[in-house]
Amino acid sequence: MLLILHPDTRKDSDAYRNTLGFLENLPGISIRLHEVTGQQQTLTEVYLLGDTKALDASEITALPAVERVIRISDDYRILGRHKDDQRQSGFTYNGVHFGQDNLNVFAGLCAVDNPRNVEATLKLLQENGQICTRMGAYKPRTNPYSFQGHGKDCLPWVFELAGKYGIKVIAMEVTHENHIEEIDQALEQTGRPTGVMLQVGTRNTQNFELLKAIGRQQTYPALLKRGFGITLNESLNAAEYMASEGNANVVFCLRGMKTEAGNPHRNMVDFAHIPVVKRLTRMPVCVDPSHSVGLRDRAPDGISDIVHATAQGVIAGANMVLVDFHPEPEKALVDGPQALLPGELPAFLEDIRLCHELYLKRQTLYRS
Ligand code: PEP
Ligand code: MN
Repeated sequence: MLLILHPDTRKDSDAYRNTLGFLENLPGISIRLHEVTGQQQTLTEVYLLGDTKALDASEITALPAVERVIRISDDYRILGRHKDDQRQSGFTYNGVHFGQDNLNVFAGLCAVDNPRNVEATLKLLQENGQICTRMGAYKPRTNPYSFQGHGKDCLPWVFELAGKYGIKVIAMEVTHENHIEEIDQALEQTGRPTGVMLQVGTRNTQNFELLKAIGRQQTYPALLKRGFGITLNESLNAAEYMASEGNANVVFCLRGMKTEAGNPHRNMVDFAHIPVVKRLTRMPVCVDPSHSVGLRDRAPDGISDIVHATAQGVIAGANMVLVDFHPEPEKALVDGPQALLPGELPAFLEDIRLCHELYLKRQTLYRS
C-alpha cells in the first residue's frame, strides 16, 4: 500500500508525527519513506510493506498527514503504474525534462577518443540545436584487449567542452560505483559546466550493487539499459532497485535482445515494447537504434536500418533516442560501423521531429 502525504508536510509537524506513529504500530507492517522533490513542492510517499490486505484504507486515508492511499501490486512499487495511481511520470534534470510524453535526442560518441573528435561532435550538435549527447569514458568490452575507454582522465576536458557547446546532459556509462564519485569530482572541479545521466549498460543490468549505489545518490538521474538476455520483468525490476534505494529518476532503454534470430542485425530490435514499458511503469522510454541494429546498411529506399529503426521507435512513442555518432567513423575506436555520419545528422534529427509529431497526431486520433 502506498500513502501520499499532503504536499510539503513538515517532519516536525503534529500531523506527521501522529501519522507515522500510527503506521509504525501496525502489526506485521514495515514502512519505507520516499521523497519526491519536484520543482513546485516536495512529496513524501510512504510505502507499507507486509500483509496490507487486511488494512482499512479509509482509516488510513483519515490520518492527518495522508492525502491519498493507493493499493499497489508487488511489482515495481515505486516506478510502476498502479490502479487509481495518478502520480506524475518523469523528472527534470539540469533544465531538461524527461517524461513519457516528450522526446530528447542523445547523439554522440560511443567512446571518447580525443579532444578533436569530441569538439567536432559537440560543435555539430550545437549547430543542430542539440543540448544532450552521449560520451563513453568507461567502456565494458567483450575482448579484454580492446580499448577500454579513457576513464576518469578524459572527464575534465569532456565536461568543459560540453559546457562550451551548451550541452546540458551527457549520457555516460558507469561500470563500477567508483565511477559515480569520479564523475562527481570532475564535474565539481570544472564548475559543473554540464550534467550527467548515469548509464547502466546491458551487461550490468543485474549488477545489483551498482544499481543500489546509483540508487543511493539523487544528484544524477539514470539510464538503465534492458538486459540483452533476460526477461522484460527482470529488467524492470532492475530499474526498481534504483528507485527502492531512493532514486526514481530513471529512464528505461530498449537496446535489442541477443539472439541469432536477429541476424543480420547485431540484436533483435525490441522497440515494440515501448508501449508495454509505458503502461507497466511511469518511466520515460529510450531507444538505442545503434546497439540494437549495429550496422549502417541501407535498404533500396536509401534509408539505413538504424534510421528506420529510430523512426519506428519514435512513431511508437519513444521519449529518448540514444545514438552513436562519429565525425570520422572509420577512425572510431569503438563501434565505428554503426555510427551516424556527420552528413546524416540534420536529416536524422528532422526525421525524428516528423515522427514525433506524427506520434502525437496518432495519439489524438485514437483518443478521440
Ligand atoms: C553503449 O551504449 O555504449 C553500450 C555499450 O550499450 P549496451 O550496454 O546496450 O551494449
Ligand atoms: Mn557502442
